[in-house]
Amino acid sequence: MTAKKSVAIIGGGTVGLYLAATLANDVRLTVFEASVPASAAPDALLGTRRELGQHDGSRTGWRSGLGGTSRIWGGQLLPWEDWEFQGVGGPAWPIESSEISPHYDRVRTKLGLSSTHAAIHERDWRTAEFAGGDLSIRRSTWMSPNERDFTKNSALKRHLGKVRVETDFLVTRIERTPVGLVVVGDRRGEEVRSEAFVDVVLTAGVLGNVRLLDRYFRGDKANLVGAGFMDHVSARVARLRVSDWSRFREHAAQRKIQGVRTSVKYVTTPEFVRREGVHPGYGHWEFDVSQSALAETLRTRVLTRRSLSELPREGLSALRALKSATAGAHRPLPDFATPYLRVDVEQLPSRERSLRWHADSGGEAMQIRWEISDDDVRSIRLIGDRVLSALTDDDIGASPDCRIETLSPIDTKHMMGGALMGLTAAESVVDTWGAVHGSSGLWVGGASVFPSGGVANPTFTALALADRMADAIKS
Ligand SMILES: Cc1cc2nc3c(=O)[nH]c(=O)nc-3n(C[C@H](O)[C@H](O)[C@H](O)COP(=O)(O)OP(=O)(O)OC[C@H]3O[C@@H](n4cnc5c(N)ncnc54)[C@H](O)[C@@H]3O)c2cc1C
Repeated sequence: MTAKKSVAIIGGGTVGLYLAATLANDVRLTVFEASVPASAAPDALLGTRRELGQHDGSRTGWRSGLGGTSRIWGGQLLPWEDWEFQGVGGPAWPIESSEISPHYDRVRTKLGLSSTHAAIHERDWRTAEFAGGDLSIRRSTWMSPNERDFTKNSALKRHLGKVRVETDFLVTRIERTPVGLVVVGDRRGEEVRSEAFVDVVLTAGVLGNVRLLDRYFRGDKANLVGAGFMDHVSARVARLRVSDWSRFREHAAQRKIQGVRTSVKYVTTPEFVRREGVHPGYGHWEFDVSQSALAETLRTRVLTRRSLSELPREGLSALRALKSATAGAHRPLPDFATPYLRVDVEQLPSRERSLRWHADSGGEAMQIRWEISDDDVRSIRLIGDRVLSALTDDDIGASPDCRIETLSPIDTKHMMGGALMGLTAAESVVDTWGAVHGSSGLWVGGASVFPSGGVANPTFTALALADRMADAIKS
């Protein structure tokens, strides 16, 4: 019997745990996870002299510890379409979408998701006539709380039992030695060194991967490591007034289909993107529920125990809305909610955005250059206008009440880039399988390697890529 090869995974977060479960039967695996408590995590993982600029997700959009950011994410899944890999409006991926698509199926199976997810993802929700072909309608699915937290996901847990996990191990560098790759880290103030591994996969999140790659290359490749950092940018574009709540709920509320929560997105088509010169993006619904109305309902019901006929109007309306929402398998959407159209757009990788890891006598620090461009904002505005003009009151039971003139765009905590995938070492950090160019045995997993960010949520595609990388590591 041949001995299994030894592989280390750095970072036991969303992608790290998925990859570990995928490789568990075929290799001898160790996962190194920093597990830094929340209060100490920014200093330990981003350095004491960090400059995070305007990017909010790098402050609040990640977690350390087994499960990583899977413990706080939304678990919303949407496979990408061909044109998202073709990089319409931005850089194309060096691989075809057909090389990724089979892995979406494997990810759904390995995460133990019901076949309804696949049915919804694969069904053609597009109506050719929608907005004259400028937009398509797609539905994303949401994992349940126990599915999306990868420390609780029972399908993953079945495999993770076989994996050695080193927690409280903050990896500080990867060293190449004559016998293999050695993981060096800090455990409660002590420097620790691992055995040598044949393969080491960095799945320390976008920020963590850049830190370890910078250390590995010791400043060489400074023009490539950390380049192409990007996110999606999002803003509310209009408030709506509802004329017919049951029609609007039918159209806009999150809907449960065979037990799976789904939501609607109005996605730009490549034709629209090319014609208008906008970034790819989509419109979706967001609701503010008046806290005062809810509080009043609770106060009346719980504290005064008055009869139903004396409940305030908001209370009755809340109960009615809840009843019809539940009966229609919709997520409760009371008719005192205020609906908004929000638009999210893809950012293109640009020289203006990058991640840098600095280690010098003054300490260690992550420096993030990130900004929202005029083009991002213009794209949000144009896509919002197109969605609103395509949806009439007759169709959806609502119409714009107030366009938001001054947009307040934010990042969506979808960090991507920093270790871009490409065909050559001169232009990119990793090859099309995620292997670091010219560094046998070193791999990078997660959205760091995305050459462009697509429209849809990134993690399903990051997991599909990790699944594909697992095939390469096993072989
Ligand atoms: C609020 C929120 C909602 C989101 N919703 C969605 C969504 O619905 N759909 C979607 O597709 N995406 C969503 N995302 C994005 C998604 O969560 C991330 O893309 C994904 O979790 C990243 O996975 P990762 O494995 O790369 O990083 P992480 O899950 O962050 O894991 C990285 C791990 O590496 C460890 N680590 C880092 N540095 C080191 C080191 N030096 N040594 C050892 N360990 C280290 C960390 O402690 C951490 O555990 C959301 C994000 C947020 C914040």
